[in-house]
Amino acid sequence: MSKLQTIPARAGKAAKVKKGQSIRMVNTHGTQVVDTWAFNSDDLHEFMSMEHTRPHIGHIYPKVGDIMYSNKRRPIITITKDSSPGVHDTIIAACDRYRYKFLGFEGYHDNCTDNLFAGMKELGLTPPECPSPFNVWMNIPVAKDGGIQFLPTVSKPGDELVLRAEMDLIIAFSACPQDILPINNTKPTEAHFEIV
Ligand SMILES: [Zn+2]
Repeated sequence: MSKLQTIPARAGKAAKVKKGQSIRMVNTHGTQVVDTWAFNSDDLHEFMSMEHTRPHIGHIYPKVGDIMYSNKRRPIITITKDSSPGVHDTIIAACDRYRYKFLGFEGYHDNCTDNLFAGMKELGLTPPECPSPFNVWMNIPVAKDGGIQFLPTVSKPGDELVLRAEMDLIIAFSACPQDILPINNTKPTEAHFEIV
């Protein structure tokens, strides 16, 4: 039985997924970046890796039909549907408490790294590290000269990205709490997903 689950604004959430099931991610309000991780549920040291995926797919913006690889170079998820314009990021690390210090924020700021650990803790799990995430709906254009920018997402309310699990896995999300740079239109919101 599938049902829509909430990734609360500024927070993390994780779920167990069986091989062959799909994960339907929904950008409910259209403006939210969702950092996404996948771990082999039998061995959390094997996880979806952007660095290992890029040479296989041959580009930095994953699209429908692309297989995402683990750090052991095994297929871990396949992208089967994307109703957004297809602007996602594979090059930026998850935000963390140190990132917000660099951005001039004083004190504790919610962040995707801590959200990964908190989301998996709800399942009684601890990831061995925070891998580089698949930053769904994150708009980081790379210019010909190699320059990058942090721009607002170009997604629309209700956009969906569907991922098929290629092994039994733990999927983990963070509704990115970035409110200093404009990637979430500076107003982090909730997003949703379901396992189908
Ligand atoms: Zn973040």
